[in-house]
Amino acid sequence: MTDPITIPADLLPADGRFGSGPSKVPSAAMGALAGMGSSVMGTSHRKSAVKNQVGRLRSGLADLFSLPDGYEVVLGVGGTTAFWEVAVFGLVQDKAQCATFGEFGSKFAKAIKIAPHLADPTIITGEPGSAAHLTAEDGVDVYAAPHNETSTGVAIDVKRVAAPGLMLHDATSAAAGLPVDLNETDCYYFAPQKGLASDGGLWIAIMSPAAIERAEQIAASGRYIPAFLDLKTAIDNSRKDQTYNTPAVATVVLAAEQVDALNAAGGLDAATKRCAESAGTLYSWAASRDFAEPFVTDEKLRSNVVATIDFDGVDAAEIAKVLRANGILDTEPYRKLGRNQLRIATYPAVDPADTAKLTEAIDYVVAQLS
Ligand SMILES: *Cc1c(COP(=O)(O)O)cnc(C)c1O
Repeated sequence: MTDPITIPADLLPADGRFGSGPSKVPSAAMGALAGMGSSVMGTSHRKSAVKNQVGRLRSGLADLFSLPDGYEVVLGVGGTTAFWEVAVFGLVQDKAQCATFGEFGSKFAKAIKIAPHLADPTIITGEPGSAAHLTAEDGVDVYAAPHNETSTGVAIDVKRVAAPGLMLHDATSAAAGLPVDLNETDCYYFAPQKGLASDGGLWIAIMSPAAIERAEQIAASGRYIPAFLDLKTAIDNSRKDQTYNTPAVATVVLAAEQVDALNAAGGLDAATKRCAESAGTLYSWAASRDFAEPFVTDEKLRSNVVATIDFDGVDAAEIAKVLRANGILDTEPYRKLGRNQLRIATYPAVDPADTAKLTEAIDYVVAQLS
C-alpha cells in the first residue's frame, strides 16, 4: 500500500463537483428550495404554489432563450430519454434523419429505428471525437442531432438544413451553456440535471409553431400514442403551468432558481462566456502539458460545456480516483468511450476559478503519481 495522496488545500476548488450529469447544483438554489419550507414541497401540483414554480421556470426559459414569436416551453415527466419516445410518437411523421457522433445521439436514432410505425431513419455517423452533419434529403420530415454530445465533448452549431422538415436538437448538456438562436431549430429539448444545474426526472422542450402544429396533426391522425408520451397532452398541460402526471417538484424549483440566476447575471450571453472561459482554461492547460491533450482534435468542435482530456503516460482512472478521495468528484470519462481520459463539466454553474484550481490539483496529482 502506498500512502494516499493528499492534495494541498490551496490547490482545491471551492466546490468539487465537475460531473457532466447529474451536475453541480448551486448551494444557493438548494437553500432557496429549503427556504420555501412547507409552502411548495409536499403540496398539490394542481394548486397555485407549485403551478407558480412551473410558470416561473417557463417564463424564465423564455427570457433566457429570447423565445421567437410563437415558440412555447413545454414540459413533462421522465427526462430526455422519455422525450425521445415522445418525439418518436408525436413529432416524427414517417422518416427521420439523425446525425450521431456518440452515445446520446445514437440512442435517439435507435429509438426511431425500432419504432414499428416509422420508416428506417437515415443515420449519418461520425466517429467519437468528431461530428456528423445533417444534410437535405427528400422525404425526411425530422432532422435530429445533439447540440452537445455529452459522451465525447463535441458540440456542433444549431443550424437549419435547407429543406422542409422539423429540426430537433438534444440540448441536455448544451442548454444555457452554448450559444443558440432558436430560429434555427423547431425543438430544443433537454433535461435539467446537466446545463441547468437542477435534478433529474423532467424533460423540457422549446417548440416552434411548426413543431406544435406537427404534434397536433399527428395526435389528430389516430396514431396509437401512449398517454404518458402524448405530446399534445403535454402542450395542453404546459399552457396551464402543469404536467400530465406528477412532476419532480424539487427539480422544477431548482431549475427555476438557476434560470433566474442566469438571467440576473446577464442571460445566455454571459452564461456562454462563462462556460467558454472555463473550457478554454482546460483546453489550453491540456495543450501545454506533455501528459495531456484535448481529445477533440478539431478546435471548432470542442465543447465549452463538457471538456474531454486524454492522458498519456499516466493512468487517468488513477487520477480520477485520487481526485475523488480529495473531494473532486465525477471527472471519470463516459464509461463506454473506453479512453484514458478525464471528462470535466464546465456548465454555467461551475465557477471558472474552480476550473483553474482543478488544473492545479491535477498537475499536483500527476506529479505525485509519476
Ligand atoms: C444525459 C443525456 C441524455 C439522457 O438524459 P436523461 O434525463 O437521463 O434521460 C440525453 N441526451 C444527452 C445529450 C445527455 O447528455
